[in-house]
Amino acid sequence: MSATPTRLETLAIKGGPPVREALLPYGRQSLDEEDIQSVVEVLKSDWLTTGPKVAEFEEQFAEWVGTKHAVSVSSGTAALHAAAFAAGLKSGDEAVTTPMTFCATANCVLYQDATPVFADVSADTLNLDPDKVRRKISSRTKALIAVDYSGHPADLVELRAIAERDGLVLIEDACHALGAEHFGKKVGGIADMTVFSFHPVKHLTTGEGGMVTTDEAKLAETLRQFRNHGISSEARQRQASGQWFYEMVLLGFNYRLTDIACALGISQLRKLESNLARRRMIAAQYTSAFRELPAVMAPVVRDGMNPAWHLYPIRLRLELLSARRPEIFQALRAENLGVNVHYVPVHHHPYYREQFGYQGGEYPVADDAYERLISLPMFHAMTDQDVKDVIAAVSKVLNFFSR
Ligand SMILES: *Cc1c(COP(=O)(O)O)cnc(C)c1O
Repeated sequence: MSATPTRLETLAIKGGPPVREALLPYGRQSLDEEDIQSVVEVLKSDWLTTGPKVAEFEEQFAEWVGTKHAVSVSSGTAALHAAAFAAGLKSGDEAVTTPMTFCATANCVLYQDATPVFADVSADTLNLDPDKVRRKISSRTKALIAVDYSGHPADLVELRAIAERDGLVLIEDACHALGAEHFGKKVGGIADMTVFSFHPVKHLTTGEGGMVTTDEAKLAETLRQFRNHGISSEARQRQASGQWFYEMVLLGFNYRLTDIACALGISQLRKLESNLARRRMIAAQYTSAFRELPAVMAPVVRDGMNPAWHLYPIRLRLELLSARRPEIFQALRAENLGVNVHYVPVHHHPYYREQFGYQGGEYPVADDAYERLISLPMFHAMTDQDVKDVIAAVSKVLNFFSR
C-alpha cells in the first residue's frame, strides 16, 4: 500500500482535498457498441416483445448457469413473485427468509398473501443461519427463501437438507450472485428455483429484467404461464400454429421481458465471464489492502465458495474507532466515494414494524451488522486507479478516526 496517507492528512469533510475529484458510484453498468447494436437490430425487426430473442436469451442463460430451464421476467422482483407463486405459497402459509436483504425478497411472500418469517443470519457471511432457520419452521412453513448476500452463496447444503426433511420449496434469491460457485457448481441449478435480477447495478443488465432458473419442467411451465396472465400458450406459438384459441389457467400477470431487453441480455452474457473475473480481482485487492487496517472487517469467504461480488461490504470494528458508522459514511462520501449501506434490515422498515410489530433487536446478528456495514464501490468497469482511490480513502478516513 504505497498510497497510505498519514494520520495528519485533512479529511475532505473537515475542509481538506478529497481523494477523488469526481464521485465513484458503488455500482454501475457498462455497455459497449456491440450491446447497443444488438438492441438496434431488434428495434428494426418484427418482434419487439414475445419474439425469438426471448427464447434465445433463456436458452443461453440456462446453459451458462448450468440449469435445464430459465424463464425471463420483467424484473428481479417479478422473478421472486413468480417463484413464490410457483412454490404454491398462499394465505396461511409461511416462508422463512433473511432480514439482511432488499425488501423485495420478503415482499414476494406478502404478494401471495402468505407470511414472511425472518431467521437471523450467520455472523461471518450474513447469510441465513441454518440453525436459526430450523427454529422458525412451523406446520405452516412452505418455503425457504435464501439470499446469496453480496454474491457469497448461502449455506445451500444445510438449507437443502432442511427443505428436504420438511418438504419445503427452496428458493434462492441470487440477485447478487450470478456466476457465484458453490463447491464448484454455479448457483442457479442448486435450489428448486433461483432468482436473478438484471437491474443496472447487477452483473448483467437489461435495464430492468429478471430470470428464474429451475431443473423442474413443471415449475418452468407454471413460471411461464404466470408471467403471461396465466395463459397456457404464448402468442408466437399460436401464430406459428395458426391458432386463435387460448386458455387462461391461472391468475398471472404481464411480467414479460421484451425482445429489446433480451437482445441486450444476450450481448451482455458474452462479457459475463470477464466481468466476473474483474470483480474477483478487485475484491482480492481490497481484501489484501484491508489486512493493514484493523478497524475493517473484510467480507469472509467460506471454503468451497467462489463469490460473484455484487457488493463488497466491509464491517467497521467500532471498538477501534472514535466515530460511529454515520460519521464515517459521511467522511467517505466527502472523499467522493459513492459508499452505500446494504441493507437496512427488512424488519426495520416502517411497513414491517407496523404489520408485524417488530421493535428492533429480534435478529441481533443482523442488527449488529447493520450498525457496522458500509458497501464500497464494486463494479467491473472500475479502473486500477479507482481501486487505489477506494483503498486510499478508506485508509485515510479510518486512520483519522482510529483510537
Ligand atoms: C436487486 C435485488 C432484487 C430486486 O431486483 P429488481 O430487478 O430490482 O426488481 C431482489 N433481491 C435482491 C437481493 C436484490 O439485490
